[in-house]
Amino acid sequence: MKNLKLSGQKAGGERTVVEVGGLRIGEDFVVIAGPCAVETEDQLIRTAIAVKEAGATMLRGGAFKPRTSPYAFQGLGLKGLKILDKARRETGLPIVTEVIDTRDVSWVGEYADVLQIGARNMQNFSLLREAGKSGRPILLKRGMYSTLEEWLNCAEYILAEGNPNVILCERGIRSFETFTRNTLDLSIVPSAKSMSHLPVFVDPSHGTGVLGLIEPMSLAAVASGADGLEIEVHIDPSSALSDKDQQLSPEAFSRLMRKLAVMRKTMAELAGDSFL
Ligand code: PEP
Ligand code: MN
Repeated sequence: MKNLKLSGQKAGGERTVVEVGGLRIGEDFVVIAGPCAVETEDQLIRTAIAVKEAGATMLRGGAFKPRTSPYAFQGLGLKGLKILDKARRETGLPIVTEVIDTRDVSWVGEYADVLQIGARNMQNFSLLREAGKSGRPILLKRGMYSTLEEWLNCAEYILAEGNPNVILCERGIRSFETFTRNTLDLSIVPSAKSMSHLPVFVDPSHGTGVLGLIEPMSLAAVASGADGLEIEVHIDPSSALSDKDQQLSPEAFSRLMRKLAVMRKTMAELAGDSFL
Protein backbone atom coordinates (compact mmCIF):
# COMPACT_ATOMS: atom_id res chain seq x y z
CA MET A 1 0.00 0.00 0.00
CA LYS A 2 1.49 3.29 -1.12
CA ASN A 3 1.53 6.69 0.55
CA LEU A 4 0.34 5.65 3.99
CA LYS A 5 2.93 8.08 5.33
CA LEU A 6 1.22 8.70 8.64
CA SER A 7 -1.26 5.84 9.01
CA GLY A 8 1.10 3.03 7.96
CA GLN A 9 3.03 0.87 10.40
CA LYS A 10 5.83 2.71 12.24
CA ALA A 11 9.42 1.50 11.91
CA GLY A 12 9.73 0.23 15.50
CA GLY A 13 6.22 -1.26 15.45
CA GLU A 14 5.10 1.37 17.99
CA ARG A 15 1.29 1.64 18.30
CA THR A 16 -0.84 4.74 18.73
CA VAL A 17 -2.56 5.31 22.05
CA VAL A 18 -5.48 7.77 21.94
CA GLU A 19 -6.09 9.40 25.31
CA VAL A 20 -9.73 10.22 26.11
CA GLY A 21 -10.86 11.23 29.60
CA GLY A 22 -8.32 9.07 31.42
CA LEU A 23 -8.70 6.11 29.02
CA ARG A 24 -5.75 4.99 26.93
CA ILE A 25 -7.42 3.67 23.78
CA GLY A 26 -5.20 1.10 22.09
CA GLU A 27 -3.84 -0.04 25.46
CA ASP A 28 -7.00 -0.31 27.59
CA PHE A 29 -9.78 -2.41 26.06
CA VAL A 30 -12.69 0.02 25.68
CA VAL A 31 -16.38 -0.70 25.24
CA ILE A 32 -18.44 2.18 23.85
CA ALA A 33 -22.12 1.57 24.51
CA GLY A 34 -25.35 3.50 24.25
CA PRO A 35 -28.34 4.03 22.04
CA CYS A 36 -28.33 4.47 18.30
CA ALA A 37 -29.88 7.91 18.77
CA VAL A 38 -30.43 10.30 21.65
CA GLU A 39 -34.23 10.41 21.91
CA THR A 40 -35.08 11.93 25.30
CA GLU A 41 -33.18 12.91 28.42
CA ASP A 42 -34.78 10.08 30.37
CA GLN A 43 -33.90 7.48 27.70
CA LEU A 44 -30.28 8.57 27.44
CA ILE A 45 -29.53 9.06 31.14
CA ARG A 46 -31.10 5.75 32.14
CA THR A 47 -29.23 3.94 29.36
CA ALA A 48 -25.98 5.68 30.33
CA ILE A 49 -26.31 4.64 33.97
CA ALA A 50 -27.11 1.05 32.93
CA VAL A 51 -24.16 0.68 30.53
CA LYS A 52 -21.80 2.19 33.08
CA GLU A 53 -22.99 -0.27 35.72
CA ALA A 54 -22.35 -3.11 33.26
CA GLY A 55 -18.76 -1.91 32.70
CA ALA A 56 -18.85 0.24 29.55
CA THR A 57 -16.22 2.98 29.65
CA MET A 58 -17.59 5.32 26.97
CA LEU A 59 -21.10 6.42 26.01
CA ARG A 60 -22.41 6.66 22.45
CA GLY A 61 -25.54 8.32 21.12
CA GLY A 62 -26.31 10.01 17.83
CA ALA A 63 -27.62 13.58 17.79
CA PHE A 64 -27.33 13.71 14.00
CA LYS A 65 -28.52 10.53 12.30
CA PRO A 66 -27.61 9.69 8.70
CA ARG A 67 -30.88 7.98 7.69
CA THR A 68 -31.73 6.22 4.46
CA SER A 69 -35.06 8.05 4.29
CA PRO A 70 -35.39 11.83 4.71
CA TYR A 71 -38.68 11.16 6.53
CA ALA A 72 -37.07 8.97 9.23
CA PHE A 73 -36.04 10.42 12.63
CA GLN A 74 -33.00 12.58 11.95
CA GLY A 75 -31.82 13.12 15.53
CA LEU A 76 -32.30 15.93 18.05
CA GLY A 77 -29.28 17.99 16.97
CA LEU A 78 -28.14 20.55 19.57
CA LYS A 79 -30.75 19.37 22.06
CA GLY A 80 -29.28 15.86 21.78
CA LEU A 81 -25.76 17.15 22.39
CA LYS A 82 -26.93 18.95 25.53
CA ILE A 83 -28.48 15.72 26.79
CA LEU A 84 -25.21 13.88 26.07
CA ASP A 85 -23.36 16.54 28.05
CA LYS A 86 -25.69 15.99 30.98
CA ALA A 87 -25.18 12.21 30.79
CA ARG A 88 -21.42 12.75 30.83
CA ARG A 89 -21.70 14.91 33.95
CA GLU A 90 -23.92 12.34 35.67
CA THR A 91 -21.89 9.24 34.81
CA GLY A 92 -18.36 10.52 34.08
CA LEU A 93 -18.41 8.58 30.79
CA PRO A 94 -16.75 10.30 27.82
CA ILE A 95 -19.08 10.87 24.86
CA VAL A 96 -18.82 9.56 21.28
CA THR A 97 -21.19 11.18 18.81
CA GLU A 98 -21.41 11.40 15.04
CA VAL A 99 -20.89 14.49 12.95
CA ILE A 100 -22.30 14.41 9.42
CA ASP A 101 -21.77 17.96 8.16
CA THR A 102 -18.53 19.85 7.61
CA ARG A 103 -20.15 23.03 8.97
CA ASP A 104 -20.87 21.34 12.31
CA VAL A 105 -17.48 19.84 13.11
CA SER A 106 -16.08 22.59 15.33
CA TRP A 107 -19.14 23.20 17.50
CA VAL A 108 -20.11 19.51 17.80
CA GLY A 109 -16.50 18.94 18.83
CA GLU A 110 -17.12 21.20 21.83
CA TYR A 111 -19.64 18.66 23.17
CA ALA A 112 -18.00 15.41 22.03
CA ASP A 113 -14.96 13.72 23.54
CA VAL A 114 -14.70 11.66 20.35
CA LEU A 115 -16.24 12.62 17.00
CA GLN A 116 -17.55 9.73 14.95
CA ILE A 117 -17.41 9.77 11.17
CA GLY A 118 -19.92 7.24 9.91
CA ALA A 119 -19.65 4.62 7.20
CA ARG A 120 -21.62 6.74 4.73
CA ASN A 121 -19.18 9.62 5.16
CA MET A 122 -15.91 7.70 5.26
CA GLN A 123 -14.79 9.22 1.97
CA ASN A 124 -16.26 12.68 2.55
CA PHE A 125 -12.87 14.28 2.17
CA SER A 126 -13.84 17.78 3.26
CA LEU A 127 -15.42 16.30 6.43
CA LEU A 128 -12.23 14.33 7.06
CA ARG A 129 -10.12 17.47 6.69
CA GLU A 130 -12.33 19.41 9.12
CA ALA A 131 -12.15 16.49 11.55
CA GLY A 132 -8.40 16.66 11.28
CA LYS A 133 -8.38 20.39 11.99
CA SER A 134 -10.69 20.01 15.00
CA GLY A 135 -7.98 18.20 16.94
CA ARG A 136 -10.65 15.98 18.56
CA PRO A 137 -10.11 12.21 18.59
CA ILE A 138 -11.94 10.69 15.61
CA LEU A 139 -13.66 7.30 15.40
CA LEU A 140 -13.55 6.53 11.69
CA LYS A 141 -16.02 3.88 10.57
CA ARG A 142 -15.15 1.74 7.57
CA GLY A 143 -17.30 2.54 4.55
CA MET A 144 -19.64 -0.28 3.60
CA TYR A 145 -18.02 -0.63 0.15
CA SER A 146 -14.46 0.21 1.12
CA THR A 147 -11.21 -1.67 0.95
CA LEU A 148 -8.60 -1.56 3.69
CA GLU A 149 -6.43 0.67 1.51
CA GLU A 150 -9.27 3.16 0.94
CA TRP A 151 -10.07 3.18 4.67
CA LEU A 152 -6.47 3.82 5.70
CA ASN A 153 -6.21 6.61 3.13
CA CYS A 154 -9.19 8.26 4.82
CA ALA A 155 -7.40 8.05 8.17
CA GLU A 156 -4.45 9.60 6.35
CA TYR A 157 -6.57 12.67 5.47
CA ILE A 158 -7.24 13.27 9.19
CA LEU A 159 -3.65 12.61 10.26
CA ALA A 160 -2.31 14.88 7.50
CA GLU A 161 -4.14 17.82 9.14
CA GLY A 162 -2.03 17.29 12.26
CA ASN A 163 -4.55 15.25 14.27
CA PRO A 164 -2.86 12.01 15.40
CA ASN A 165 -5.89 10.70 17.32
CA VAL A 166 -7.68 8.36 14.96
CA ILE A 167 -9.46 5.12 15.90
CA LEU A 168 -10.61 2.79 13.12
CA CYS A 169 -13.93 0.94 13.44
CA GLU A 170 -15.08 -2.02 11.34
CA ARG A 171 -18.91 -2.04 11.02
CA GLY A 172 -19.63 -4.57 8.31
CA ILE A 173 -19.56 -4.37 4.55
CA ARG A 174 -22.19 -5.01 1.90
CA SER A 175 -22.21 -8.50 0.45
CA PHE A 176 -24.76 -10.75 -1.29
CA GLU A 177 -25.90 -12.08 2.10
CA THR A 178 -29.28 -10.75 3.18
CA PHE A 179 -29.76 -12.66 6.45
CA THR A 180 -27.53 -10.14 8.19
CA ARG A 181 -27.75 -6.36 7.69
CA ASN A 182 -24.05 -6.28 6.74
CA THR A 183 -21.26 -8.84 6.62
CA LEU A 184 -18.97 -8.21 9.57
CA ASP A 185 -15.43 -8.53 8.24
CA LEU A 186 -13.39 -9.59 11.26
CA SER A 187 -10.42 -10.51 9.09
CA ILE A 188 -9.95 -6.76 8.62
CA VAL A 189 -8.97 -6.39 12.31
CA PRO A 190 -5.63 -8.23 12.23
CA SER A 191 -5.18 -6.95 8.66
CA ALA A 192 -5.60 -3.29 9.66
CA LYS A 193 -3.38 -3.84 12.69
CA SER A 194 -0.65 -5.32 10.50
CA MET A 195 -0.75 -2.34 8.10
CA SER A 196 -1.35 0.50 10.58
CA HIS A 197 -0.42 1.59 14.11
CA LEU A 198 -3.94 2.93 14.77
CA PRO A 199 -6.33 1.23 17.25
CA VAL A 200 -9.03 -0.89 15.61
CA PHE A 201 -12.55 -1.25 17.02
CA VAL A 202 -15.50 -3.40 15.94
CA ASP A 203 -19.19 -2.45 15.85
CA PRO A 204 -21.13 -5.75 15.87
CA SER A 205 -24.48 -3.92 16.08
CA HIS A 206 -24.42 -2.32 12.62
CA GLY A 207 -22.09 -5.13 11.52
CA THR A 208 -24.83 -7.75 11.87
CA GLY A 209 -28.10 -5.94 12.56
CA VAL A 210 -29.24 -9.16 14.26
CA LEU A 211 -29.71 -9.19 18.02
CA GLY A 212 -28.62 -12.79 18.52
CA LEU A 213 -25.37 -12.27 16.64
CA ILE A 214 -24.06 -9.35 18.68
CA GLU A 215 -22.73 -11.42 21.56
CA PRO A 216 -20.93 -14.10 19.49
CA MET A 217 -19.49 -11.47 17.15
CA SER A 218 -18.30 -9.36 20.10
CA LEU A 219 -16.45 -12.37 21.50
CA ALA A 220 -15.04 -13.13 18.06
CA ALA A 221 -13.93 -9.49 17.70
CA VAL A 222 -11.89 -9.85 20.89
CA ALA A 223 -10.38 -13.07 19.53
CA SER A 224 -9.47 -11.22 16.33
CA GLY A 225 -7.46 -8.66 18.32
CA ALA A 226 -9.87 -5.71 18.41
CA ASP A 227 -8.89 -2.87 20.74
CA GLY A 228 -12.49 -2.15 21.63
CA LEU A 229 -16.14 -2.45 20.69
CA GLU A 230 -18.99 -0.10 19.92
CA ILE A 231 -22.36 -1.60 20.84
CA GLU A 232 -25.89 -0.21 20.66
CA VAL A 233 -27.85 -0.50 23.92
CA HIS A 234 -31.27 1.01 24.61
CA ILE A 235 -33.16 1.15 27.90
CA ASP A 236 -36.29 -0.04 26.05
CA PRO A 237 -35.28 -1.37 22.61
CA SER A 238 -38.86 -1.97 21.44
CA SER A 239 -39.58 1.78 21.64
CA ALA A 240 -36.40 2.91 19.83
CA LEU A 241 -36.79 5.54 17.09
CA SER A 242 -33.96 4.04 15.00
CA ASP A 243 -32.26 0.63 14.72
CA LYS A 244 -34.82 -0.92 17.03
CA ASP A 245 -33.99 -4.50 16.00
CA GLN A 246 -30.30 -4.38 16.86
CA GLN A 247 -30.21 -2.57 20.20
CA LEU A 248 -29.45 -4.71 23.24
CA SER A 249 -31.37 -4.39 26.48
CA PRO A 250 -29.24 -3.44 29.50
CA GLU A 251 -29.64 -7.03 30.77
CA ALA A 252 -28.34 -8.58 27.54
CA PHE A 253 -25.49 -6.07 27.48
CA SER A 254 -24.54 -6.87 31.04
CA ARG A 255 -24.41 -10.62 30.24
CA LEU A 256 -22.27 -9.85 27.19
CA MET A 257 -19.85 -7.80 29.32
CA ARG A 258 -19.42 -10.72 31.73
CA LYS A 259 -18.61 -13.08 28.85
CA LEU A 260 -16.23 -10.51 27.33
CA ALA A 261 -14.24 -10.44 30.57
CA VAL A 262 -13.71 -14.21 30.32
CA MET A 263 -12.76 -13.94 26.65
CA ARG A 264 -10.26 -11.18 27.33
CA LYS A 265 -8.65 -13.19 30.12
CA THR A 266 -8.31 -16.15 27.74
CA MET A 267 -6.79 -13.90 25.08
CA ALA A 268 -4.29 -12.52 27.60
CA GLU A 269 -3.27 -16.09 28.48
CA LEU A 270 -2.86 -16.94 24.79
CA ALA A 271 -0.71 -13.83 24.28
CA GLY A 272 1.81 -15.24 26.75
CA ASP A 273 1.60 -18.62 25.00
CA SER A 274 4.67 -20.20 26.64
CA PHE A 275 2.47 -22.90 28.20
CA LEU A 276 1.44 -24.27 24.78
C1 PEP B 1 -23.85 4.73 14.06
O1 PEP B 1 -22.92 4.17 14.68
O2 PEP B 1 -24.72 5.40 14.60
C2 PEP B 1 -23.93 4.56 12.59
C3 PEP B 1 -24.81 5.25 11.87
O3 PEP B 1 -23.06 3.65 12.12
P1 PEP B 1 -22.53 3.43 10.62
O4 PEP B 1 -22.01 4.75 10.16
O5 PEP B 1 -21.46 2.41 10.82
O6 PEP B 1 -23.69 2.94 9.83
MN1 MN C 1 -27.64 2.71 14.71
